[in-house]
Amino acid sequence: MVDTLKLGNADLFRVEEMAMISPLAFYTEDEALIAANWSWLFPKYVGEDRECPSIFQSWIVQVGGKIIVIDPCTGNGRNFPDFAPAHMLDTPYIERFQATGIKPTDVDYVFCTHLHMDHCGWNTELRGGKYVPTFPNAKYIMVQREFDRWDPRRPGHVSIPQNVGTFENSVLPVLEAGLAEIVPANHRINEHFSVEPAFGHTVGHSLLRVETDVREAYFAGDAFHHVLEVHYPELHDKAAEAPDVELATRHRILDTCIAKNALLIPAHFPDPFGGTVSRKDGHYHFTPFSG
Ligand SMILES: [Zn+2]
Repeated sequence: MVDTLKLGNADLFRVEEMAMISPLAFYTEDEALIAANWSWLFPKYVGEDRECPSIFQSWIVQVGGKIIVIDPCTGNGRNFPDFAPAHMLDTPYIERFQATGIKPTDVDYVFCTHLHMDHCGWNTELRGGKYVPTFPNAKYIMVQREFDRWDPRRPGHVSIPQNVGTFENSVLPVLEAGLAEIVPANHRINEHFSVEPAFGHTVGHSLLRVETDVREAYFAGDAFHHVLEVHYPELHDKAAEAPDVELATRHRILDTCIAKNALLIPAHFPDPFGGTVSRKDGHYHFTPFSG
């Protein structure tokens, strides 16, 4: 499946890897909150059995003659016995990518919001028994703080079961090919693309701000997993490395999106994948993008 979106002078293409579901209880078990929001949550954001759709997808943005890929998903054939939905995938991700009319060799930049397995896997692909960069002409932009967090060569490195092998398979080959550009968390790539800190979900998690001639878009990675976290940023992210920092990050992103009327595009939201933010009845309010 491929979706396209025109944002002024920018063309956005969505490349889906897969859809999975996660239980609503992963986000909240507050029955009063669930009841108060059920009318708009069901069935789009929470299904019959209290299961929430979660999409694994990348975005390609083309503007000003440059092409960037944001968060290249999980990759095929990766060994994740502790995370069944992503274990040994065999999806036509590259075929879907090419169906946009853009070839992997056309890509100028790759940006990973963070280095969890579902955000950097297609940095590389297996060829002849070896992981090689999928985008051989791209600069792979990664934030130093995040790179260091996952570098197993550093003393005191702490791994997590769901991410085993990710740095070795999806990051190191890019580094060894001379394609990695390790940057500070505030970094301007060009006149349209900037990296900004969005720490919390992981210690170096960052976002990509895209400037077009009509409005800005914030590719916010996993700062928000579910739309409820936009409405209630205080909801605890069970996967967060630094939840308190993430709370401040969420407020900053939401307030910025309101002030700029910017488009917010988190990594895993279901159709239509992004939207705008406003304030209503003392809460943040997410309005899905309608074109
Ligand atoms: Zn993720």
